[in-house]
Amino acid sequence: MSLPRTLQGVSGVDPNELIAETLISEVAIRERIAVIGGEIARDYAGRPPLIVCVLKGAFVFLADLVRAIDLPVSVDFMAISSYGSGTQTSGIVRIVKDLDITIEGRDVLVVEDIVDSGLTLSYLVKSLQARRPRSIEICTLLTKPDRREVEIPLRYVGFEIPNRFVIGYGLDFDERFRNLPYIAVVDESKLT
Ligand code: 5GP
Repeated sequence: MSLPRTLQGVSGVDPNELIAETLISEVAIRERIAVIGGEIARDYAGRPPLIVCVLKGAFVFLADLVRAIDLPVSVDFMAISSYGSGTQTSGIVRIVKDLDITIEGRDVLVVEDIVDSGLTLSYLVKSLQARRPRSIEICTLLTKPDRREVEIPLRYVGFEIPNRFVIGYGLDFDERFRNLPYIAVVDESKLT
């Protein structure tokens, strides 16, 4: 994704000072994932899904989520890059790494880190639908409903969050902070 304009070119700023506050704690994430994992296991009983993880941001969520699903799921990965400038996501997505597993006839569950405008995921889902899966649903850890530009049905949602730029638990700022075990808000005022 493109970073907000205010976060670009911030060399010289101590990265640790960019964290304003914890938005979602490690414990809250763990508890929510246990609930979602249970729901997925119940909904997909007898038809274990092929879980498609959208790299890179969703890798931490995926790792915890699959261990909370008591079903023989399969997992595959896709990497995409979206074109856009500043805060705008164009929705035009280039597949950088495609799936190894054929999804035709499969029950596909796409795992995302965050849905913002929805443009990226909307494009991705359309391109996966062309491969004729039996079903396709979305599981996202975070959603920013206020930012939505296209309607996209989210079957499983971890948390609804306000329109703030967040990092941690897989989400990056300039490729850093993915290893924070919680979700934090970036303090944009420190960047000006
Ligand atoms: P969309 O197409 O929905 O506008 O963009 C979704 C992508 O933007 C996400 O997969 C993620 O990579 C990125 N993104 C959106 N909001 C945030 C945010 O608050 N923090 C981070 N680190 N990435 C974000």
